[in-house]
Amino acid sequence: MAKVVIIGDSAAGFSAVQELCAKGAGAFEPVVISRQEQPPYKKSMFADFLSRAAEEKALFLCAADFYARQKIETHKPAEVARVDVKKQRVALKDNSKIPYDYLLIASGSQVKLPDIPGTGKDGVFALDSLERAREIRLRLDLAPVVCLSGSAAECLALSRALHKAREIKIVSTPKPDSFVSDERVEWIEEAGFTEIIGEGSELKAVKLAGGKAIGTSLVIFSGPHAPRTAFLKESGIRLDPEGYVLVDERLRTNVENIFSCGSACRKEGAMEGIKSWEAACAEGAQAAVNLVSLERGVPSCQQTS
Ligand SMILES: Cc1cc2nc3c(=O)[nH]c(=O)nc-3n(C[C@H](O)[C@H](O)[C@H](O)COP(=O)(O)OP(=O)(O)OC[C@H]3O[C@@H](n4cnc5c(N)ncnc54)[C@H](O)[C@@H]3O)c2cc1C
Repeated sequence: MAKVVIIGDSAAGFSAVQELCAKGAGAFEPVVISRQEQPPYKKSMFADFLSRAAEEKALFLCAADFYARQKIETHKPAEVARVDVKKQRVALKDNSKIPYDYLLIASGSQVKLPDIPGTGKDGVFALDSLERAREIRLRLDLAPVVCLSGSAAECLALSRALHKAREIKIVSTPKPDSFVSDERVEWIEEAGFTEIIGEGSELKAVKLAGGKAIGTSLVIFSGPHAPRTAFLKESGIRLDPEGYVLVDERLRTNVENIFSCGSACRKEGAMEGIKSWEAACAEGAQAAVNLVSLERGVPSCQQTS
């Protein structure tokens, strides 16, 4: 059986596992490694979760015992520290080694906090994990003014979910045509903040480039995103200057038995922002199909999306 190690258990990684189980049953042995202990969850539902339109269990893509029932080996929570392409094995932070025949990198992205003073203050959050979403949800009831920063689409989705009970200040540019002004939602067309102000660890306000300050006790960054690929730096797997794994039309890296999918990878020259949830799922499934084709020696499909 060919051992397929999958780094990541979210949109791309989980779709790849499902496809491998469906298309490669009996011939492929998936092994899932993920930093998160919980079952994979839908980040695209964070806005509903924060507004209490959805409870936590609605976010999960499968039951907690899914992998055990499928007899799939998992390492969760576990963090990949390195990939040794020559020895075909992945090293975890605890120094244990996991061998592979094929590797699928679906390690996604994280929200990058700006390099300005004050981002460590209590009340400043990068919304890219369920743990952070839980913390933000607890704080929302105590926050009459919330500042949002990120891409226009992310800020719009969050403001629509959150504006009923509080004032929202969106700091993002450009303001989309679809934005409908509301007395509770103000769109401030600036690229971001220059400083986060407060006393000690307490957050009091954010300062904008134009000098204006906005009083707030909660700042949520939903972007920009950076790929989580630092563990690949010395591996010989090609990354672009921003750290995205470079893949070809078949989602294959420069190493024959290594594929990548979802928001961790890009095709050469592509300048897209973060991929949608659906695009990441589609790539995960496609990468698994292409890997199965490679092992079986049949031509693989090119990615269409
Ligand atoms: C706040 C927010 C709102 C969003 N809203 C929407 C929306 O409304 N609609 C939409 O279509 N999309 C939305 N997205 C985008 C969508 O969530 C992403 O496209 C999708 O999550 C990408 O999936 P992925 O599997 O590529 O990576 P991720 O979801 O980033 O998952 C990466 C996985 O890799 C694991 N991992 C990372 N590094 C390591 C390591 N070193 N070792 C082990 N495991 C590792 C992580 O634990 C995780 O399991 C949103 C994203 C965010 C952050």
